[in-house]
Amino acid sequence: MTKIAFIGLGNMGLPMAVNLVKAGYRVNGFDLIPASLQSFVTAGGEGVSSANEAVDGAEVVISMLPAGKHVAELYNSNDGLLAQLPKGCLVIDSSTIDATTARQVGEAAAKLGIDFIDAPVSGGVSGATAGTLSFIVGGEVDCFARAKPILEAMGKNIFHAGSVGSGQIAKTCNNMLLSVLMTGTAEALQMGIENGLDPKILSDIMVKSSGRNWALEVYNPVPGVMPGAPACNDYQGGFMVDLMNKDLGLAFGVAQESDSKVPMGEQAAALFKRHAEAGNGRRDFSSIFQYYNKG
Ligand code: NAD
Repeated sequence: MTKIAFIGLGNMGLPMAVNLVKAGYRVNGFDLIPASLQSFVTAGGEGVSSANEAVDGAEVVISMLPAGKHVAELYNSNDGLLAQLPKGCLVIDSSTIDATTARQVGEAAAKLGIDFIDAPVSGGVSGATAGTLSFIVGGEVDCFARAKPILEAMGKNIFHAGSVGSGQIAKTCNNMLLSVLMTGTAEALQMGIENGLDPKILSDIMVKSSGRNWALEVYNPVPGVMPGAPACNDYQGGFMVDLMNKDLGLAFGVAQESDSKVPMGEQAAALFKRHAEAGNGRRDFSSIFQYYNKG
């Protein structure tokens, strides 16, 4: 079975790597945080003490790191992994980062005969645990085909968006739209409540009407309306406001480069920024409802 190195065993990386182990892959995992590494070992993975050790003998390298600077440092720095990896190795970066860094690492890899794809995910920690993530891939067609069976061990929907960097662009478009949908949904529900409507009944109406959207369908932001949604758990778990703000920053980088107009994204970003400044950065992003609810 293919030998895989998995770098970054955080909230997302750990369950993803565990699903690869469950699928029968030989996985060497590494994280800078010893407790994360220990969790991987407890779950049946092989923990090693450095990224260089993890990639030793690996045919495929997967990374799941916080941001672009971590990915550039891991692969492209003087003693980065690209210098160590053999020709023909496949690198899959699933972190959500800027497309420019993804392209820079992809170009450096290509010069060395190493296959590279950017493969950011959607679906959150619950999707990572259940193995139902969506992977949004940027890369050559043959690299995509090579990665697909491995990604299928961690996800349900595997999309090919285009060339290297396209996965990150598609992911950023999606998350900017999500920020608009969530703020709009919270806004409409609060206005209904202030006009005497039951938010559950209003949600039932809108989910069957033209206002229907993902936030209403599976992630209702009003406490008590949708059991299982973070709103029913004091906005714990789920997708943090800080991560949404990071993704919106990436979206504005993309918009600037293409000179795209994104006024709706800017409005939503201003709300999430204020919400984070009020101390909600580590809460689920549907807690933006409280911005309306509490003024
Ligand atoms: P996290 O902070 O929980 O995990 C990142 C891990 O990377 C940490 O454990 C950290 O120690 C490790 N790390 C950093 N640099 C390292 C290095 N050089 N070598 C080894 N390990 C290193 O973050 P997360 O929630 O797992 O998110 C990872 C990525 O996935 C981010 O880019 C995030 O935007 C994206 N993402 C997150 C979610 C979510 O719901 N959490 C959903 C979709 C996408």
